[in-house]
Amino acid sequence: MRMIFIGPPGAGKGTQAARLVDHFKIPHISTGDMFRAAVQAGTPMGVEADRYMKAGRLVPDEVVIGMVRERLAAPDTAPGFMLDGFPRTRPQAEALAEALAADGRALDAVLLLEVPDALIVERIVGRRTDPETGAIYHLTFSPPPAAVAARLIHRKDDTEEAVRARLDAYHNQTAPVVPFYEGVGLLRRVNGVGDPDGVTAAIRAALA
Ligand code: AMP
Repeated sequence: MRMIFIGPPGAGKGTQAARLVDHFKIPHISTGDMFRAAVQAGTPMGVEADRYMKAGRLVPDEVVIGMVRERLAAPDTAPGFMLDGFPRTRPQAEALAEALAADGRALDAVLLLEVPDALIVERIVGRRTDPETGAIYHLTFSPPPAAVAARLIHRKDDTEEAVRARLDAYHNQTAPVVPFYEGVGLLRRVNGVGDPDGVTAAIRAALA
């Protein structure tokens, strides 16, 4: 299964992707996670990416495309992969199509997780991540167990100001990717509003 997850920030891509990769036994390739790891490690790419991420802006295409190409060349992608947070621009989508075609690979599905903007800010501002397990919680909607509460992290770009910038980037730069995949018959739309188990069931149905 070679698939892509698209959706606004806070749509639930990370939560749902983690469940799907368990099911399909494929690697979860999150460009946001890769950039956060590079920031943490203090690599030159991390230093550059951090400037954009803090502001809620997209990292330049050439940086992201190079990073993803390298990742997709790794042998663990032979049974497939789940791309989460990539492509986020039309040039990224085109570069991905080219890179896959050069290897004789093709995408199986592109999932669009739809959540209205009004819900996004509320979801993101309360979001917290467990750095040890990667589990994602929400202070109100999915409260963390007391044992892990003290170590949870609030992402630097999960502030209201950065979320508004990320939503603008989504509507202006990422939304044009949707007709690209719709045109080639790969797009499956899934309603991302509701409890996470219900959304997982809707995704499984859309992929069946
Ligand atoms: P995410 O964890 O997917 O919300 O990504 C966090 C941040 O990483 C984004 O707001 C961007 O600054 C950067 N980023 C992640 N993926 C991409 C991408 N495909 N293109 C450009 N920037 C990206």
